[in-house]
Amino acid sequence: MAINILPEDVVRRIAAGEVIERPVSVVKELIENSLDAGATRIEIRIEAGGIEGITVIDNGCGIQKEDIPKLLNRHSTSKIKNEADLYSISTLGFRGEALYSIASVTKLRIRTRAKGEAEGTELISENGRILINSVSAPVGTTVEATGLFHNTPARRKFLKSPSSEFVRIADVVARYVLAYPKISFELINNGKTVFHSYGGGSEDPIIAIWGARVAAQMLPIDYRSEKICVSGFISAPSLSRSTRKDITIFVNGRLIKDSSITLAIEKAFENILKPGRYPIAIVKIQIRPSDVDVNVHPNKREVRFANPNEVFSIVKATCEKALRMHRPLMRPDSSPTQHDSLANSHDDIQCLEKNLELSDNFLTHDNLQKNIEGLFKIPLQPIHIKQGEVIEFLNTYLVFEDSGELAIVDFHNLHERILFEEMNEAEKPCEKMVVSQKLIFPETFALPPDLAEAIEDNFDFITRMGFDVEPFGNGAFILRAVPHFVKESSAAELLIDILRATLDENFDKSQPFDFRKRFKITTACKSAIKAGTKLKPEEIQFLLRHATDARFMNCPHGRPTIIKLDRSFFDSRFKRKSNI
Ligand code: ADP
Ligand code: MG
Repeated sequence: MAINILPEDVVRRIAAGEVIERPVSVVKELIENSLDAGATRIEIRIEAGGIEGITVIDNGCGIQKEDIPKLLNRHSTSKIKNEADLYSISTLGFRGEALYSIASVTKLRIRTRAKGEAEGTELISENGRILINSVSAPVGTTVEATGLFHNTPARRKFLKSPSSEFVRIADVVARYVLAYPKISFELINNGKTVFHSYGGGSEDPIIAIWGARVAAQMLPIDYRSEKICVSGFISAPSLSRSTRKDITIFVNGRLIKDSSITLAIEKAFENILKPGRYPIAIVKIQIRPSDVDVNVHPNKREVRFANPNEVFSIVKATCEKALRMHRPLMRPDSSPTQHDSLANSHDDIQCLEKNLELSDNFLTHDNLQKNIEGLFKIPLQPIHIKQGEVIEFLNTYLVFEDSGELAIVDFHNLHERILFEEMNEAEKPCEKMVVSQKLIFPETFALPPDLAEAIEDNFDFITRMGFDVEPFGNGAFILRAVPHFVKESSAAELLIDILRATLDENFDKSQPFDFRKRFKITTACKSAIKAGTKLKPEEIQFLLRHATDARFMNCPHGRPTIIKLDRSFFDSRFKRKSNI
């Protein structure tokens, strides 16, 4: 692939230039270059959120020695040559601007050796000075960009903290990992591997990014015609999110945003998901290069289809078909399926994990109740109360008749107690840990020294409670999984809140400091359903199963979970003689 500098007439037709806004823009461009070079292994190393360093190492075709001097010129590319090529772009890059732009805001070092060449080349660029040397290097390319915006302090000031820049990088890398299952990606942050996919095939990356439980609830989508192919995965109806952020769209290998395709996916879930709930989706569209214009957006984040309505209909129909084929599993009255039988085997933690509800809506799945019973190892009382006979009072209390008494349950208090007991059980070394759910995108966060120390001192305990959290120096942590009962949306924030409350000196002055007990109490309190919530029928059923258990009479703070009023209470108030 010889590199040429694009002629003026082509340059004029290219959508206005590449902008490096933040570290993730550099990472995205370098990954795309590695993919265009045919790499099967891409390693991404990040230092200080990419502000200090971004290194992308690939085993692609490498850059020929004679092309190196042209590499950092604006509009130097091996991917297109003339205007006609603009209408059939099959590579991710085509403007020859990324390396030029990156070199203008970082110190850049490129080491490469092209296939078939005996020796490699190193190019070092700093403040407009370029040095080129021969070096020994494996076939492939390593690009190292350090000191982002070192020469423009005003732009550097606009960057966020290293951990929040890293979160953006991890988010984008994860989407590429999902879209390129045959390619092995490794993302390393400050020397630690954050995730690693092995390039083994279609489900491998879903497991690497989302964990086995989400993978078990993803449905493959597949449509093929001469003009267009659609592939990827969408979530089963049992799994949904409160935002669209987990809808990922790739067109001809390019990560894009497209409101019309997003809508097509959402439409397929109409009447399946409640309003305000969105699927997880990774939808990959392959279309003839001549039927899509990729040259419409400066950062190549949008495309224009020659026939957008057709693409809309095909994507919608493809998703609908996958959902239709899945539907028999979801019908509550269907005969036992593999799904159901797995859910009944409580002893097998893997089955349990597979079937746990992962929706960030708490307790929406019947299986969850069965699983929690399994975890508790207590026979729960059969519930005699019929759905219609329970009154939700003020969205705070459940009121029902129980064996001749009027029972009033404070559902937040009760749920708090249930979660607290689950954690008490899990604390015993001979018992199973709290089942955790993997976060789709691990969250990095920094802690002040007292909170950081608390995690480090109680690491094994916090892990048993279902939090997969790992320190990586300087008060920074990565959170990979949380207990199954925690809402995913603000997982790291929740953990920080829990730690703060646990260490709060006003916690309960009457009791000696006990980190574990306080941690369990605050986790239960912050995760339990809040008063004022409209409960779903299955949530009511779940809570009521525990309402009659003697262990659950008080919440961990000591407040009652249930009050029972017997006949004498009413008789005396109504001035009725008893038993009349
Ligand atoms: P573009 O990708 O639009 O062509 P870039 O500035 O990103 O522009 O890259 C310029 C050229 O450098 C590419 O066309 C390609 O020939 C070469 N190149 C860049 N990165 C790599 C890589 N990782 N492996 C092989 N060649 C590369
Ligand atoms: Mg490029």
